[in-house]
Amino acid sequence: MFKKLLEKLKSKSASKPTPASTPTKVSKPKPAKSSKKAYPNRFLKFYHENKGRVNKNRRSMYTEHRKAGLCVRCTKKSAPGIVFCSYHQQKQNKYNKIARS
Ligand SMILES: [Zn+2]
Repeated sequence: MFKKLLEKLKSKSASKPTPASTPTKVSKPKPAKSSKKAYPNRFLKFYHENKGRVNKNRRSMYTEHRKAGLCVRCTKKSAPGIVFCSYHQQKQNKYNKIARS
């Protein structure tokens, strides 16, 4: 079974079938950029101005909390088997439902 899959993958690169119906790309005109960037609030402004640092910090916090058995969104203890506390697990479930609907 696995061998068959490999063969399939190999043959795929040799003869690429063109997709039958690709919707024509509609290029939206980009809004004119003003020299001064406007952010809806100061939190977003801070985020965009410090993206690299903020994301690096978030990543390391995530791994540290996960290792320590803490919720990755706050400092509470996480539920067994997941990376969230019960509160943030519920919140995440809501987000997932919205994203998947
Ligand atoms: Zn939490």
